[in-house]
Amino acid sequence: MRVVTGPTDHVVVVGAGLGGLACALRLAGAGRRVTVLEREAGPGGRIGQLAVDGYRFDTGPTVLTMPHLLDETLNAVGERLRGWLDLVRLDPAYRAHFADGSSLDIRASTAGTAAEIARLCGPREADGYLRFTDYLAGLYQLEWARFIDRNLDYPHELLGPDLARLAARGGFRRLSAKVGQFFRDPRTRRVFSFQSLYAGVAPHRALALYAVIAYLDTVAGVYFPRGGMYAIAEALADAAVKHGVTVGYGREVTDIEVTGTRARAVRTRDGDRIGADAVVLNPDLPVARRDLLHRPLRRRLRYSPSCVVLHLGSPAGHDRLAHHNVVFGTAWTQAFDDITRRGRPMADPSLLVTSPTRTDPGLAPAGRHAYYVLAPVPNTEAGIDWRARGRTYGEELLGVLAARGYPGLAQAEVRHLVTPADWAHAGLAAGTPFASAHTFRQTGPLRPGNLAPGLDNVVFVGSGTQPGVGIPMVLVSARLAAQRITRSPGGGARDAGAGYGP
Ligand SMILES: Cc1cc2nc3c(=O)[nH]c(=O)nc-3n(C[C@H](O)[C@H](O)[C@H](O)COP(=O)(O)OP(=O)(O)OC[C@H]3O[C@@H](n4cnc5c(N)ncnc54)[C@H](O)[C@@H]3O)c2cc1C
Repeated sequence: MRVVTGPTDHVVVVGAGLGGLACALRLAGAGRRVTVLEREAGPGGRIGQLAVDGYRFDTGPTVLTMPHLLDETLNAVGERLRGWLDLVRLDPAYRAHFADGSSLDIRASTAGTAAEIARLCGPREADGYLRFTDYLAGLYQLEWARFIDRNLDYPHELLGPDLARLAARGGFRRLSAKVGQFFRDPRTRRVFSFQSLYAGVAPHRALALYAVIAYLDTVAGVYFPRGGMYAIAEALADAAVKHGVTVGYGREVTDIEVTGTRARAVRTRDGDRIGADAVVLNPDLPVARRDLLHRPLRRRLRYSPSCVVLHLGSPAGHDRLAHHNVVFGTAWTQAFDDITRRGRPMADPSLLVTSPTRTDPGLAPAGRHAYYVLAPVPNTEAGIDWRARGRTYGEELLGVLAARGYPGLAQAEVRHLVTPADWAHAGLAAGTPFASAHTFRQTGPLRPGNLAPGLDNVVFVGSGTQPGVGIPMVLVSARLAAQRITRSPGGGARDAGAGYGP
């Protein structure tokens, strides 16, 4: 494994997003002096919070999987997750609402989900589901340690019997074809393949190896912290401070001072120069390379689709909605092609609707409900003027939801719309919060690496680098980044996290 050379006593981490905070904890646990400099007024980055009129809306991730990785991160400084977050395992994990009016719950137990599938589609389909979960568990076992949870410097490091096993299991086939081997009903096929969009690729184009996301979502368990997802950011930031990390907010880094092949210091917009033995960069990787290192990526990346998020606070409750809901349209392949190929919003959209107040009513004033509607849309490379289109698109989404049986959402007393223009304004390449897509050429060691090329002591962390997007992957990226600096396999782990699946 390639590592940072020279002294690493004082590490400056730029950005207090999930990746930056988790890496800071790993480094502090390994005895480094750590300074975190964050541009915004608080921690979390994309794990953000919007407080309006007594509502607290999570503005980023809503689906928490693999919480044992948070536990492991806190273990690096001798803390336990249970002392910092009150996690609820959601049951159902998701409710799928189909265009024909039927619905399906993905339950916390495999047996519960099998019973739901048998109810909706018959016992043969339920049997297919049980075979699918076995397949997913095998895929997860095969992929995790070998291909995801390790620093990979060169593609040839992947070669070996496990790669052959992955190929034999159909990991390099198309996801929708693989899912089709287990399910016959178009509804179940959708439920177990839409997750590829989290990796930025349509199910009919994604590699089947990305079925592991469905494993995390539908088998290993979905959790929610009381107080909202933002509690994760607060917990990691508070634990870091407790363990000696200096965290400065409102401190935008404008430049990394480099002499020869070594970063010597970072400079802030307010005119400070902070010396560093090593630097960890948490801003979106292509942006960090261009703006902070002045060494833009030479390869052209393919970016994930983006999203519009509508935050709604409403007196209207909807009993049909669970905490997490996927409200499917009739269109499927065309809907993905709309956003990934044709550069336009889905004509017949499938939407993620989350109602966190079903689990934690304290996130809204008494008797009120919070809703989060996420619509996948093209990223800014499609050239849509979201400043002009955003408002009408928000109205269209409410119209779609009303037509599908959720008229109360349009009665919202609080509305806040976030579009790709806002993600671009936040410094995210191509106006997408989902980074470069997990296409074959941007997977594993082919994804931009975490060592800054040509520099001895600069490391990237976060969703723009390996292994990829989403809370679990970013927590892994933090361990891998810390490992480059501490030169130890655990990257600052004191003991293994325990007590949370999978
Ligand atoms: C709407 C949405 C829905 C999502 N849904 C899910 C989900 O359900 N489940 C899931 O697992 N994941 C989800 N994700 C993805 C997940 O949130 C991200 O992959 C993850 O939070 C990214 O973390 P990061 O550390 O890479 O980056 P960030 O959180 O973006 O952190 C980067 C930090 O660097 C700071 N920064 C940038 N430039 C500078 C500078 N010059 N100086 C100082 N600081 C700087 C930023 O302010 C920020 O705090 C979602 C994301 C969004 C936005």
